[in-house]
Amino acid sequence: MLKIQPPKYEYCPFCKTKLLAKVDDDRSRKYCPSCGWIYYPQVFDSVAAIIIKNNKMLLVERGREPYKNTWMFPGGFVEYGEHPEETLRREVKEETGLKAEKISFFKIVQSVDDPRAPGNLIFFYQVKPYEGSIKTDEKENVAVNWFSLDRLPKIGWKSHKYIIKALKKDK
Ligand SMILES: [Zn+2]
Repeated sequence: MLKIQPPKYEYCPFCKTKLLAKVDDDRSRKYCPSCGWIYYPQVFDSVAAIIIKNNKMLLVERGREPYKNTWMFPGGFVEYGEHPEETLRREVKEETGLKAEKISFFKIVQSVDDPRAPGNLIFFYQVKPYEGSIKTDEKENVAVNWFSLDRLPKIGWKSHKYIIKALKKDK
């Protein structure tokens, strides 16, 4: 279990009343004394795509914080209502230009270093085969490129470093 703190709400998001705290199931919960809303913090979900061909891995270079100008697997947050597999196909298309044909689930990792979504669950998938040629998503990234597994660029996210280690061990 990660020791992380959820976002701090001070006011009820529905009726704007100042929240109070009470103990519920051994955890301190914030609640609204006016409308009865109870704050149960949840973690976000995200996905990342492992795309390897001929011993080369496809990575994207981040264009913004956190970890600006480090490299990562293409991926992103699950949108409301999306299945992670749908998110994966959408993100692969947006960030690499490729169409993911077949995907297979690899691992779930808890993010330990994303201040935007503490503890978010990252669903890693392997993508193969795919169609198309690579193209950068200029809104989010500054580059997309293939790298030999033994000559990788600087990786930012700890979860992505962990997956690379796991992949190398599998070989
Ligand atoms: Zn309220």
